[in-house]
Amino acid sequence: MTETTGHESALSKLFSPTTIGGMTVKNRLAMAPIGTLYSSLDGAVRQEFKDFIIARAQGGVGMIMLADAGFGFTSLEAPVDPALLKGMVEAARELVGVVHDHGVRIGVQLNHCGRQLDFPIPGYEMVAPSPIPWSKRSGVPRELSVDEIEELIERHVDAAEMVKEVGFDFVEVKACHGYLLSSFISPRSNQRDGQYGGDLQGRARFALEIIGRIRRRLGKGLPISCRFNGADHVEGGLTLDESRKLARLLAEQGVDFVSVSAGVYGSYPVIVPPFHAPQGCFVHLAEGIKGAVGVPVVAVGRIKDPRMAEEILQSGKADIVAMARGLLADPELPIKAQRGTFDEIRGCIGCNQGCQDKMAGLETTCLVNPAAAREKNMAIVPARKPKRVMVIGGGLAGMQAAMNAALRGHRVTLYEEGDELGGQWRLASIPPCKEEFAGLLGYLSGQLQKLGVRMRLGSKATAETVEKESPEVVVIATGAVPSKPEIPGVEGRNVATAWDVLAGKVQVGEQVVVVGGNALGLETADFLAARGRNVEVVEMLEHVGRDLGPTVRWHLRHRLAEAGVRVLTSTRVTEISGEGVLLMDREGRSIHRAVDSVVLAVGSVSRNELVHEVGGMAREVHVIGDASKPRNALFAIREGAEVGRRI
Ligand code: SF4
Repeated sequence: MTETTGHESALSKLFSPTTIGGMTVKNRLAMAPIGTLYSSLDGAVRQEFKDFIIARAQGGVGMIMLADAGFGFTSLEAPVDPALLKGMVEAARELVGVVHDHGVRIGVQLNHCGRQLDFPIPGYEMVAPSPIPWSKRSGVPRELSVDEIEELIERHVDAAEMVKEVGFDFVEVKACHGYLLSSFISPRSNQRDGQYGGDLQGRARFALEIIGRIRRRLGKGLPISCRFNGADHVEGGLTLDESRKLARLLAEQGVDFVSVSAGVYGSYPVIVPPFHAPQGCFVHLAEGIKGAVGVPVVAVGRIKDPRMAEEILQSGKADIVAMARGLLADPELPIKAQRGTFDEIRGCIGCNQGCQDKMAGLETTCLVNPAAAREKNMAIVPARKPKRVMVIGGGLAGMQAAMNAALRGHRVTLYEEGDELGGQWRLASIPPCKEEFAGLLGYLSGQLQKLGVRMRLGSKATAETVEKESPEVVVIATGAVPSKPEIPGVEGRNVATAWDVLAGKVQVGEQVVVVGGNALGLETADFLAARGRNVEVVEMLEHVGRDLGPTVRWHLRHRLAEAGVRVLTSTRVTEISGEGVLLMDREGRSIHRAVDSVVLAVGSVSRNELVHEVGGMAREVHVIGDASKPRNALFAIREGAEVGRRI
């Protein structure tokens, strides 16, 4: 890593201008395409989308790549982001103009979804090079005829022409992630004969024709990028060796720069890798392509640290570094990095909860940045009259509430009965691969200190404390406590909660049963297996990890399987004794397991008894986070931000 001192950034390469395809870009930090789902099926460009993009342009990024415009096509990856349907050209033009006002380049990706569709869209027909579904559960796509391919090529070229007319700086042909062009390139999904199948030249012909014809029709007037996979990460799919050859073919067609990603829906958790994957996990692919072609190469893939970005550039592995989640988490990352104030950056933790796995609903958001895509709604507006605010509880919800209230000018005191801030989030940072989670606490603590929030650590707030402080506003963020199931023997000496195990308050034996297969249970099993314990997870429902998003669940299940952790579903623990546990399986059979320790991970209950005691002692009393209702951290931090904004 590049070392830096003080407020002078040492990221000289990252923040030096460059020229690609005749286009000068002010720095080499790009915003990678983010599929936000902020636009509606009829193509309306919603204000949230514009605000989202503009905030990133203001934040100092050099260029922005908009995701998945399908305009001009019969088949859209709808709802498309910029939704540049013909009628929306003016809205797009306005957006481009504002981005340009910030000295930022902006381009748009053209994409046809092909055979990969997350949810049905009326009138959309799945099409592909060959009638091969992407998974056993998906529908069989229709094989495109040569005439249809020809028509689609022309539509791509028409779309590129419209991109130019709107005023975008470049166009990106999307040939990655298993969508239509990528499915043609991959030998696994393209098993057709003839001019669009067979060897790499034939399989890539569809994409090559598009690029060549865009170049011929538009001349040098619009730089062209192509995003393709360095590797598909599925058996029989594209490998780095072939993608190097593909890069040469693309360069011969006149592509101005290339962007190297990885994964298809068949290897879905690879496409947007969560915290289990190392940071910069696709950089070796970009490096491999860089060694094969002379055109500039964009590296992407869990790059969130600007110092890592600088190192990638300095070592010649790529020419541009693109971030998606890093900028979702903090749109001002570039400005802060350039200033060298790295501890001011609200870092992405790779959780995928808000952005990829969309645990809060269909639209993109961010766990660490509750203002992501709600930039206007969540803007910090100074309080008309500063109030004395007492926040009780120093977990994520309380910290975020204190921060937002202090940002607005309120005088905030934060009470935390423990000696450290963080609450449950501290435990969430302990299981394997989750070290980055602790970074969020570092960021929030730093902000609270900077904002002058008065800290009362190791102080349990009671009704008397509230009376003495006499605040105008009380925010109760006292979190939750672990639930204890009503199982005979649950009070035994060999029984502990997952919270106590993770906190290192209790030691467990060699043979362990973890009761409960949600995130906490699975991650505690991972933690114990990594310490050499023989672990079995028992879950009463049919599936485990229901509170995890698909990408995180996939990686965690793989880790557990590799570590030999057994997972029993549809099975209950009916009794615990000093010798072990009695289980009942789905057929009602009793099973005895001799174990040394039983670890409980069966949820939590709100801890909010203070609410009744302090009601009436302050003008406003708010209850947020798990104290209101136990849920995941995304909701806790969001509620903290919202209450901080309201009071
Ligand atoms: Fe990063 Fe998680 Fe935010 Fe996604 S939701 S951008 S992974 S912190």
